[in-house]
Amino acid sequence: MNANMSVNISANMDDYRIASEPYYEESGEECALFEAAFAQKLPVLLKGPTGCGKTRFVEHMAWKLKRPLVTVVCNDDTSAADLTGRWLLDEKGTTWQDGPLTRAARTGAICYLDELVEARADTAVVIHPLTDTRRLLPLDKHNELLRAHPDFLLVVSYNPADRGDHKQLKTSTRQRFCALAFDYPDTERETAIVVRESGIDPEMAARLVALGVRTRRLQGHGLDEGASTRMLVHAGALIGQGVAPADACRMAIAVPLSDDPEITAALLSTVDASF
Ligand code: ADP
Repeated sequence: MNANMSVNISANMDDYRIASEPYYEESGEECALFEAAFAQKLPVLLKGPTGCGKTRFVEHMAWKLKRPLVTVVCNDDTSAADLTGRWLLDEKGTTWQDGPLTRAARTGAICYLDELVEARADTAVVIHPLTDTRRLLPLDKHNELLRAHPDFLLVVSYNPADRGDHKQLKTSTRQRFCALAFDYPDTERETAIVVRESGIDPEMAARLVALGVRTRRLQGHGLDEGASTRMLVHAGALIGQGVAPADACRMAIAVPLSDDPEITAALLSTVDASF
């Protein structure tokens, strides 16, 4: 059995409902635009660097639209069967188990396929008919052609900066989606996020954000991406634990960002210059 079947599917869709509002700092009109796409059930592609708020945005929108949210983080082992389902052998014989995509399409949830580009090529076969007006999910192994629930919405994310490998979203896939472009929030918003998420004071949060902005200037000069908002939140959380700011930034930002000794040295000196 594929390791991805550890995507445990709860029988109870209430488990996928988001009970309280996930904090999301909006950068533009993305909430209203997503709502419009949801109203028309147009599949949505979220493009942007890692750790800039895409997942949080989907969680926020699922809560706002009162839809359960089924999330699958795709990797290069993720196959069509991991998304659609498979026959399982148990003491009673064989039982069909819906995969996360099937469960979402059947029940009218939002299905979020994080980093779809990582998944195996056969996943396109099941995604494509779901993204056109037919909204069908072919379940060949179950001998079923599932018509998606009227509230079902497919959302996928994609990080265009992951150019290290050859993986790109195929034109035939990308043309099926409406897309929202994400980027790191502006400094004021990012400071507010770091304050809210890590609990540190605004002045320290602003210094972390300034450091984050500096690391982003190294992008394309040996770094694929600079410090994400997530990394700044982590640094803030360590500072909240009493760790000295420079140590927190080394641990949460400089060391994880690169394995290249020269780049790491440049990052460490940026940290030292910041605190
Ligand atoms: P992505 O899915 O783009 O990789 P996430 O949504 O997981 O990134 O964001 C990483 C973390 O950064 C979140 O857990 C949250 O703490 C913080 N974050 C980033 N952007 C926002 C935002 N706009 N509003 C609130 N929190 C954010």
